[in-house]
Amino acid sequence: MSDCLFCKFVRKEIPTRVVFEDDACLAFEDINPKAPVHVLIIPKKHLGSINDMASEDQVTLGQLAFVAKRIAQDKKIDQSGYRAVINTGPDAGQSVFHIHLHLLGGRPMAWPPG
Ligand code: 5GP
Ligand code: ZN
Repeated sequence: MSDCLFCKFVRKEIPTRVVFEDDACLAFEDINPKAPVHVLIIPKKHLGSINDMASEDQVTLGQLAFVAKRIAQDKKIDQSGYRAVINTGPDAGQSVFHIHLHLLGGRPMAWPPG
């Protein structure tokens, strides 16, 4: 999508701190980290949110989770634990409408979330 910030990261029109990339996914450091590890993992295909998923996008979301696992290992938080979050819509505070999985870790986190 031409005016989507995260699509611009995918197309390399705007630089960002990439931590992982493959054919389907891009992962980069969050600009305003909420934990010692805060990485955003996105599909290269534009999808606004979980609400916009079609049947074929089930595979894409699985790929995001698999990339999260690999980055958690690389960042050495796989054993201490981490949170994988996809905010969807106003009540969840979604602010960027290109689906993204937050990988958060490196400190204990409260439950339930605020
Ligand atoms: P949401 O609130 O939609 O779940 O999460 C959006 C995330 O995108 C936030 O954590 C925010 O810090 C991050 N973000 C917003 N703009 C940028 C940016 O320009 N670069 C990076 N790396 N992250 C951004
Ligand atoms: Zn996009």
